[in-house]
Amino acid sequence: MTLPRRTFAIISHPDAGKTTLTEKLLYVGGAIHLAGEVKARGANRRARSDWMKIEQQRGISVTSSVMTFEKDGVFFNLLDTPGHEDFSEDTYRTLTAVDSAVMVIDAARGIEAQTRKLFEVCRLRSVPIITFVNKVDREGRSPFELLDEIADVLALDVSPMNWPIGMGGEFEGIMDLSSGRISRPEGDSRTFQGKQDEVPLSDRFAEEVELAQAGYAEFDGAAYRAGDLTPVYFGSALKDFGPAELIAALAAHAPPPRPQPAEPAPVSPDNGEVTGFVFKVQANMDPQHRDRIAFMRLCSGTFKRGMKLTPTGHGKPIAVHSPILFFAQDREIADEAFPGDIIGIPNHGTLRVGDTLSERADVRFTGLPNFAPEILRRVALKDPTKTKQLRKALDDMAEEGVTQVFYPEIGSNWIIGVVGQLQLDVLLSRLDAEYKVAAALEPAPFDTARWVAGDAAALKELAEQNRSAMAKDRDDNPVFLAKSAWEVGYIAERYPKVRFLATRER
Ligand code: GDP
Repeated sequence: MTLPRRTFAIISHPDAGKTTLTEKLLYVGGAIHLAGEVKARGANRRARSDWMKIEQQRGISVTSSVMTFEKDGVFFNLLDTPGHEDFSEDTYRTLTAVDSAVMVIDAARGIEAQTRKLFEVCRLRSVPIITFVNKVDREGRSPFELLDEIADVLALDVSPMNWPIGMGGEFEGIMDLSSGRISRPEGDSRTFQGKQDEVPLSDRFAEEVELAQAGYAEFDGAAYRAGDLTPVYFGSALKDFGPAELIAALAAHAPPPRPQPAEPAPVSPDNGEVTGFVFKVQANMDPQHRDRIAFMRLCSGTFKRGMKLTPTGHGKPIAVHSPILFFAQDREIADEAFPGDIIGIPNHGTLRVGDTLSERADVRFTGLPNFAPEILRRVALKDPTKTKQLRKALDDMAEEGVTQVFYPEIGSNWIIGVVGQLQLDVLLSRLDAEYKVAAALEPAPFDTARWVAGDAAALKELAEQNRSAMAKDRDDNPVFLAKSAWEVGYIAERYPKVRFLATRER
């Protein structure tokens, strides 16, 4: 019998403790034996999962990976979302591949900008959320204030599942509100090592707990799964308060793989045919091999090694002989995979972000958009003999969804577009390291881009009257490059039959 699946991501603002929590979840799940392997500090920071120099230099997780572990008869797939705000697009796509999320909040900071953005993405797709208020071992804001903020800012019902008995210097443990048991810190490290008791609380804390139980919604599994209520766990990832409870909560309450939006109809996980979609492509993961890995979320059917899958809309069936499963840090070859699982499919560039793969090629998963870039730059090549390499590199990275590339109709100055500044550094660094192309980025005469759609005559008129603003993207779709958002509005008014699109769905 196949084990139940929980495919989830952790969303948070940088520094709230996502990496620490990830480590601890993997540790509790038995996937790593030494907490600290996920992102070792200092020189070895993320050493094992890093392929890119820039990550080490900046200490930012740029790549999103997949970590799989099994605990008490449940199989967990944890999708790592890049934490940096510049990578919201990549993060967005990763969130299309999960069934639920854990939102980590710093007890001293509450809801921060990035948490909120990611939350909005989850809400768009009705992804249910378990909240973890981290760092209660430090001075933080009052738990009541934090709960009220979550409820107000996110417009959700909140249901505290446990309660911190003091914070910071006063921290005496965490009480489970249903059993009344208190987990206690021990030793000089003040970590949780298994000590629990039911010693009565002092008046002050007894009163707090009573208020907490009376003042907030009771946990309701259906409301949580509908995305209307978030259970809230207080804890400290660093001191081992919380990770085990979160795993238990995910096992008990988080949704198993859900039907996925698709055309002509949503695909249910118990549909017998194998279907999935690619939410991420990564080139050059391994410097020894120049292949790409396409990360596919399996949506239905039982995948078996060697199976032939067809990308919808383009290409011939491909036989997947060496699919990769992701057991924590070690990539393993998969023989079988089930709905909710992520498999890595090595390929030479045939697979793109947003592709649907299926046995019969008659479905298409929807909702994996490209976003209009907010920063445009002209790529200046230092060595003109490297034009071909540059084009290949820009195409590769566009394909991975790291940056977008636009080839203007006039002139040979290729333009790249990104959603955030950091992607520019990643681009230059990879051009240099992986493609041996020295290039510089110059200001572009444009500020933003829109995909254009409409009937042929309208598009022709637009193109003829604005030739210097017309370009093609990687897939030959027509794009209008604008000097400002204002210009987009102005032109849109003049060409009412043309639609100017800020996202493009593949
Ligand atoms: P990320 O940026 O969200 O991945 O955050 P990290 O896991 O790297 O944590 C950021 C900082 O907060 C690090 O210095 C951690 O050691 C620290 N940290 C994480 N969790 C806790 C916690 O529960 N208590 C305390 N005191 N510090 C923590």
